[in-house]
Parts: sequence; C-alpha cells; structure tokens
Amino acid sequence: METIRMLVDNNLNCEKSYAQAVDLLNDGEVVAFPTETVYGLGAVATDEKGVRKIFEAKGRPSDNPLIVHIGTIEEVSNFIEEIPENALKLMNTFWPGPLTVIMKAKKGLLAPSVTAGLTTVGMRMPNHDVALQLLRKLKKPVAAPSANRSGKPSPTKAIHVEEDLQGRIPLILDGGATGIGIESTVLDVTVNPPVILRPGGVTKEMLEEVIGEVIQPTKSQETLDTTPKAPGMKYTHYAPNAPVLLIESDQAFVGEAIHELRNEGHKIALLAPLSFENIGADYFFPYGDEGDKEMMSSKLYDDLRACDKTEATIILATTTSTEGVGAAIMNRLEKAAGGKWYNR
Ligand code: AMP
Ligand code: MG
Repeated sequence: METIRMLVDNNLNCEKSYAQAVDLLNDGEVVAFPTETVYGLGAVATDEKGVRKIFEAKGRPSDNPLIVHIGTIEEVSNFIEEIPENALKLMNTFWPGPLTVIMKAKKGLLAPSVTAGLTTVGMRMPNHDVALQLLRKLKKPVAAPSANRSGKPSPTKAIHVEEDLQGRIPLILDGGATGIGIESTVLDVTVNPPVILRPGGVTKEMLEEVIGEVIQPTKSQETLDTTPKAPGMKYTHYAPNAPVLLIESDQAFVGEAIHELRNEGHKIALLAPLSFENIGADYFFPYGDEGDKEMMSSKLYDDLRACDKTEATIILATTTSTEGVGAAIMNRLEKAAGGKWYNR
C-alpha cells in the first residue's frame, strides 16, 4: 500500500484532503491525523473492520482499548449510558482539550475492538483544528490511538508517522508538529473519587479545581489489584533503540556519569536542559530552559526518536519534578527507561 502524506494548513485550500480522509474513513480505512497531544491513527469507531486495521497497522495488542474522539459534546450521549455530573463539568471546562474521560458505554454501539471487551469507553474532544474539522465533516466518532508502531514513542510530527507506518496506512494528514507532545490525561469517572489512569496535560490540580478530590495513584499504589488501571499502561512504551537511563538533573553528576560510561566504551546521548550543552555528551538534545515543562513535553518524543538516528549506545535523560505536567513527563520518561536509573 502506498502511504500519501497531505499537508493540511489553514492557509491552503484543503477541502480535497479532508474529503479524501472522510471517504477513506467511511470506506472502513484508517487515516492518521494531528491532534494537540500527538498524531492519532483513526477509524470510524462503530466499524469493527476499520478499527481492526488500526491494531494491525500498529501491531497493538488486542486487549488495549482505544480512545473515541468526537467533534461535539452532544455526541457523547449517543454512546454513554449515563453521563455523571462531574464528567459533564469536566467536559465543559476542558474540552476541546487533552482530557479523556472513561465512562460506562451503551451496549452494542461501538465496534467491540474499541473497548477491548470492557464495559467502559474513554472519550475526548481534541483541541486541534485539523482533528476537529475532520471529525465535524465526518460526523461520526473516530477511535484513535497514537499513530506509532506499538512500543515506539508517540508521533509528534507527520514524519514520525511516516517512519513507523509507511506502507501500512493509506493517508497521513500533515498538520505540522503537535503542541503538547504527550498523550491526554485519562480519568476514570466510573469510580468515586475519580482516578487518573494516565497523567497528561490536564493535571490533577486542574481537575480538582473543577470536581474536588481526584486520585493520582503513586507508583506503589499503581501495582495494587484494587487500583483501577488503563490496560495499555502495562505494555512497554516510548522506547528508543538504545537503553534509556534516568539521571538526576545535576550537571556535576551527569558529567561524571558521561565520563564513566565513556570509559566503558559507550557513546552517550544526553537529554537535558540547555545549560547542559557543554558537559561532553556525544549527542545532545536540549529540553529547553531548566524548568520549562511545556517545552520539555513538546520535545520529549521527538528527542527520543532522534536518538535512534545517532550511534548512541546509551541515552541519559535528566528528570524533572512531578509537579503539574511534570507528573506526565516523568510517567513517560519512567516508561521509556523501563524504570532504570543511572547508578554510579
Ligand atoms: P493510546 O491510544 O495509545 O494513547 O492509549 C490510550 C490509553 O487509554 C491506553 O493506555 C488505554 O489502555 C487507555 N484506555 C482506553 N480506553 C480505556 C478504558 N475504557 N478503560 C481504561 N483505560 C482505557
Ligand atoms: Mg499510544
């Protein structure tokens, strides 16, 4: 299959590109498109044949459910048994935006693979002009996970989608680099208080301002049987080819680590704030200024992917505090590293 990448830009006349995407989706095909978090790989959420193609193209395990994307809040009630009051407040506050809300699904409407056998479904309205135009022209819900091969970092540019899915999907709508750069917050409102299944751009603090107490499980709580989980979080994620080691953001310590690792014969890629530029890594990928978490999240996956284009045999990634969006960043970094830290 040939994969076509089409530029969709506000300044161009893109009607034809959208029409082609809508036709493909209506024909049971998959289409990659940008959102404000990462690129998604979508299919019509009620079409089992189309949805299965997502799993095939990505190599995604079939027990990992998909998020359903919609273009208007009104569509939620078509697919949800009963919308809890706190969910409605959150939708009105954060949609369109990077918040996925898990609710009880109406039976028999969504393609079975979307929910992977669960009775619940996650829904969100993306805050991106291309995604919203596509959804509103299609007038159907779109099930879409991130548009990467399973296990790889999520795509934040159309070129990343091309690298992973070239020849496996018919169309990529190219809307440039995504803004936030890490996936949506996933919040389960079927339990009380609601539980964050995956931290993201909408933080615990932001949620609590609207609905009161929200649980963000600690790492040890996450492993308890009683803690609700996102099925997808048990899989390897966001992993570049070379092993990633986390390291405290301390220049002297990172400098020593580079020295030691080089003595062991390693070539080192370093992901760290700009001020770490001259401490001697073989390849340097700056996060931006120290403490600029928005920049860090928007660059993280691109940097992890860029490491694959170097000859680095080890990737050192400096960490940040878990305050605000730092919780989401650290969640992704921990997964990329498989929980491993640099030890002297
Ligand atoms: P992705 O589509 O790759 O961004 O991943 C979506 C995440 O949301 C995965 O971790 C899924 O397991 C999770 N998810 C989707 N639907 C549900 C659901 N109904 N209940 C719990 N987690 C879900
Ligand atoms: Mg994903």
